[in-house]
Amino acid sequence: TSKEQWAEVEAYVVDRLLPSDAVLDAARADSDAAGLPRIEVSPPHAKLLHLLARSVGARAILEIGTLGGYSTIWLARALPEDGRLVTLEYAEAHAEVARGNLARAGLDKVAQVRVGAALDSLPKLVEEGAGPFDLVFVDADKVNSPRYVEWALKLTRPGSLIVVDNVVRGGAVTDGSGADASVRGTRETYDLVAEHPRLDATAIQTVGGKGWDGMLIARVTG
Ligand code: SAM
Repeated sequence: TSKEQWAEVEAYVVDRLLPSDAVLDAARADSDAAGLPRIEVSPPHAKLLHLLARSVGARAILEIGTLGGYSTIWLARALPEDGRLVTLEYAEAHAEVARGNLARAGLDKVAQVRVGAALDSLPKLVEEGAGPFDLVFVDADKVNSPRYVEWALKLTRPGSLIVVDNVVRGGAVTDGSGADASVRGTRETYDLVAEHPRLDATAIQTVGGKGWDGMLIARVTG
């Protein structure tokens, strides 16, 4: 098997199960036009996030790492009319594109983009009593993923889901040398989740147009 075949199967899945959507197409086009990197989740992964949010009956969602708001739109669409989503983004330029994309999607009332380093924004959310969130999607700078999971635990309730993206890294996750900061952060995330008494988790390897990676899905148990 090859990357081409993974991409071909992804295209098949998208063709069969994910009807084309002008708002999402426009969101990605605007992100491209603004020069944002193409590091958003794939459409099947975005749909998985959407289905997970629906399955837990999410009314409040927290996202760490907005980029152009592609995954944000999928997540926010899983919410009821009176639901709310907070998404944290470091780069003002990314946040601006995301705000435009969310407005076009009619989700600007539901989804709030907060600019700044997530490690600054997260304590503020706790101070504000913004939680509990029913689903937290961690998809920012991977070196800080374990810190984000720790903050997510302060902002969730028993039954909430914490999803961490890019936890396989083309297989590099098994490299314990510590040479790569993202791998280090990812491995620390596994350690934290594995040892945490309030988390029950698995990680799934995936292939697709973007290669070999995976998602960790943890349920807050208590
Ligand atoms: N979740 C998005 C999607 O699937 O459409 C993709 C997010 S992208 C992989 C990661 C984003 O995290 C980038 O936009 C980056 O600017 C942002 N980021 C990086 N470091 C951050 C930090 N310390 N705090 C908040 N956001 C950060």
